[in-house]
Amino acid sequence: MEQYDVLIVGAATAGSYFARKLAEAGHSVLVIDKLSRDTLGRRLDIFHVAKSDFARFHLPLPEQNDDFAFEFSRGQTLSAFNRYPKKTQNTVVGMHMPRYIARLNAWAREAGAAFRHNAAFIDFLYEDGRIAGAVYEQDGQLREVKAKLVADCSGIPSVARRKLPDSYGVENFEIDDTEKFYVTLRYVVYHDPKDYVSGTRGWTYYKTWEAPEGSADSAILGVGANFSYDEGEKVFAAFEKAVKLPRYTLKRIERGTTPYRRPPYSFVADGFLASGDAACLTKPSAGEGVTASMVQLEIAADVVGRLLDEGGYLTRARLWPVNKRYVEAQGKAFAGQLATLIGAMSTSAKENDFFFQNDVIFSEKTFAALGNGEPLTFSAGEMASMALKMFRGVLSRQLRISTIRSLLSGMKNGGRAEALYAEYPADEAGYDAWVRRADAFWKSCGSMAENAIE
Ligand SMILES: Cc1cc2nc3c(=O)[nH]c(=O)nc-3n(C[C@H](O)[C@H](O)[C@H](O)COP(=O)(O)OP(=O)(O)OC[C@H]3O[C@@H](n4cnc5c(N)ncnc54)[C@H](O)[C@@H]3O)c2cc1C
Repeated sequence: MEQYDVLIVGAATAGSYFARKLAEAGHSVLVIDKLSRDTLGRRLDIFHVAKSDFARFHLPLPEQNDDFAFEFSRGQTLSAFNRYPKKTQNTVVGMHMPRYIARLNAWAREAGAAFRHNAAFIDFLYEDGRIAGAVYEQDGQLREVKAKLVADCSGIPSVARRKLPDSYGVENFEIDDTEKFYVTLRYVVYHDPKDYVSGTRGWTYYKTWEAPEGSADSAILGVGANFSYDEGEKVFAAFEKAVKLPRYTLKRIERGTTPYRRPPYSFVADGFLASGDAACLTKPSAGEGVTASMVQLEIAADVVGRLLDEGGYLTRARLWPVNKRYVEAQGKAFAGQLATLIGAMSTSAKENDFFFQNDVIFSEKTFAALGNGEPLTFSAGEMASMALKMFRGVLSRQLRISTIRSLLSGMKNGGRAEALYAEYPADEAGYDAWVRRADAFWKSCGSMAENAIE
């Protein structure tokens, strides 16, 4: 039977990155993907990544006339009435996903990782009740491969994680339809050169944005919704009524979902790791997940690499530092952002406009923190100033008390989430007690579907 140090399920961005990191440290890696080489990554065309992330994760750069699409630095977010722009400055690179994934595959192969396409994960192989590899199907045949670690990088379907026995050590939940963010992208051509875009504009009230596409006259108009693509269409229609967009011709529409729920409490179990969309490692405010998951994978490659050098079975206890270090590096901040967003109730268009006008929550500082995946923290002085402005808003009948109550509860939950994740256990011993607290906390926040901002 074939044998590798690590078997990775899924050869897209998360799987290829992990493969490269392990292979360059000298470990044997096999990556399987159910798709063919030609169809891999075709679910999306354009995606973008902060330019600084290329250096941060040592990623290969895209090239002109291949996977590179565009680069821009300017961004602004506007109120429901298209006013009070909050500017952000962050250089972002847009790329064609199938071609960039091909580049990442080649990059991992170059370091020694093996790839097998048209190879679908079926189930785990077990020895003494612990994961010892996997069974996959290729060309209608079932094949077995032994591995010291199986990593699930299969995206939202989470094909390996969901096959884990109950209580194996990582939750085996399905990311169901109410736990996804439904994104529709309209690829358009603007008629008038004066309207051509060189940066992004976003309207949080409609969860809608405009971004460059690649050629000067083209743009992408995106809308995201919590419940369905239909819901997004309704919001987009309201948006087009409220915000006068340049005249355009629609080229095509692209749709996809991102996970919108808390990640599993633990990413590791005996001989197992979950990452990427399979572990819901996306920015809570925008659903961007490509480099968000690399924060965890970089830690995982370091921990797994050392354990492979040491030898012996990769138990959950030995893999535990992946959990602890990830929570410190990003999980704590994401948990805080998610709890804040769930807690925030719907505001009216007028209230949204008021918040933008007065820098209450919707400020340049907030958008910069959300964009960088940093904690949303407010000093006592900032809180007092916002409270005063909101109080004035109520007196002048621009704000409802229920809106303020809901926003304050969202902010409070954000702080509670960060405090909870700051106490994430250093080893398995405190895990069950921590999970009980975490379960009670997330239950008290309500579900995303009930409470997500509308
Ligand atoms: C419309 C839209 C726009 C987005 N834009 C951005 C953006 O601009 N920037 C950003 O950072 N993020 C963006 N995201 C999110 C981003 O696309 C994901 O977070 C990221 O691509 C997830 O990568 P992944 O490798 O975890 O999973 P995936 O890209 O889903 O890859 C999973 C792989 O696993 C394979 N697989 C599935 N089942 C099996 C099986 N049984 N056996 C073997 N292989 C299997 C699949 O074929 C696939 O190749 C966007 C998402 C959407 C929907």
